[in-house]
Amino acid sequence: MQTRFTSAQLADPATAHSEAILRKCVHCGFCTATCPTYVELGNELDSPRGRIYLIKDMLENGRPADKETVTHIDRCLSCLSCMTTCPSGVNYMHLVDHARAHIEQTYNRPFFDRLNRALLARTLPYPRRFRFALKLARIGQPFKSLLGLVPALKPLTAMLDLAPSAVPSPQSLETPRIANPVGRVAILSGCAQSVLDPEINAATIRLLARLGIEVVAPKREGCCGALVHHMGREGEALGFARNNIDGWSDLIDNGGLDAIIITASGCGTTIKDYGHMFRLDPAYAAKAARVSALAKDITEYLSSLDLPEPVITPGMEVAYHSACSMQHGQKITREPRQLLSRAGFVVKEPREGHLCCGSAGTYNILQPEISRRLRDRKVGNIEQTGAPIVATGNIGCMTQIASGTTLPIIHTVQLLDWAYGGPKPDTMAHIAPAHPVKELT
Ligand code: SF4
Ligand code: SF4
Repeated sequence: MQTRFTSAQLADPATAHSEAILRKCVHCGFCTATCPTYVELGNELDSPRGRIYLIKDMLENGRPADKETVTHIDRCLSCLSCMTTCPSGVNYMHLVDHARAHIEQTYNRPFFDRLNRALLARTLPYPRRFRFALKLARIGQPFKSLLGLVPALKPLTAMLDLAPSAVPSPQSLETPRIANPVGRVAILSGCAQSVLDPEINAATIRLLARLGIEVVAPKREGCCGALVHHMGREGEALGFARNNIDGWSDLIDNGGLDAIIITASGCGTTIKDYGHMFRLDPAYAAKAARVSALAKDITEYLSSLDLPEPVITPGMEVAYHSACSMQHGQKITREPRQLLSRAGFVVKEPREGHLCCGSAGTYNILQPEISRRLRDRKVGNIEQTGAPIVATGNIGCMTQIASGTTLPIIHTVQLLDWAYGGPKPDTMAHIAPAHPVKELT
């Protein structure tokens, strides 16, 4: 694609990077076929190619974002399906991140939109506040239909829809001491996942401990920054990222780390991008690149180990939902399926596996209609497999899919923990395996 940026514009490194991305796009439109919003809405401006044109026009003319551009960029899920499809290697992720930051700086959103976004940014990344908000949501449930009558308050209704009926008690991450460990890793405790399902990291630590891996927790660590990053709040995202980089760097410098384990693929995509986010920051560039290189999804890390035979053979069918951040953001496709198969599960593939479930960080709250359409499409495809349970590797997808089906949605690592000697996940206690569980040891 030809561009017409001035040399003064290209002196800005973010614009120069976006210009290089834009020049790679050859307008072929292959990406439209796999874009969930284009598939659902059929509007070119809701396709990657259409958005690329809008972003080019906005940046090239150095103008503030307008309503039309904001509408179509806001509808983008950042699912990155377009990046998997694109034959020209267009880095849409960095382009849309830049566009979102530009929108945040130049566009004056309507009052309720600003309020909703500020509320989400000040709540979701903070576990205590998020827990409190979930408790409030239970009180707000009876007023849901009233709130739904006011269009500007639809995000609040969506939040109430997604809020679980019960919030697990807070759990501190217990990391057992391992005699003669064969590896040493840190684990991201994160934000929303630690509140919604602390059992995911508990299962990870149990499984790693059984494999002889020492898990250490940094003194300072929290939200990875993805939630606010996708809202264009760049400064806040960098603040979260710096905090984590400092925490993990302490551990790297004092004892070393083989990996930084991430159990929410949405966070993994962002942490693996810290190197890019800090490339121009002399104080953090090297540390951030080191952290990104060590970041591993739990399935990626487990696949690099010499695993023993599983303790049981569950013989159970599992519909595997590959989160967008897993398959498109991190290109991890083989590992979770192979681990599940090896552990004795029969992996079933839902149709249209490349399409987003509509979760996408805060998308299911800020764009509830499109999100619901995508969720129902995803749930239909999952239920068609006939599998009694669903496995996935991202808490956002777990919450989203669970809001549209009665099937238990379980994190992949919880199933692996069970197969390798851990407890059966509570959410599937009522499900009998297709074949009786065979104890191998
Ligand atoms: S990130 Fe997803 S929703 Fe956004 S343009 Fe690409 S494919 Fe479409
Ligand atoms: S597939 Fe790639 S090159 Fe083709 S229009 Fe989409 S982004 Fe541009």
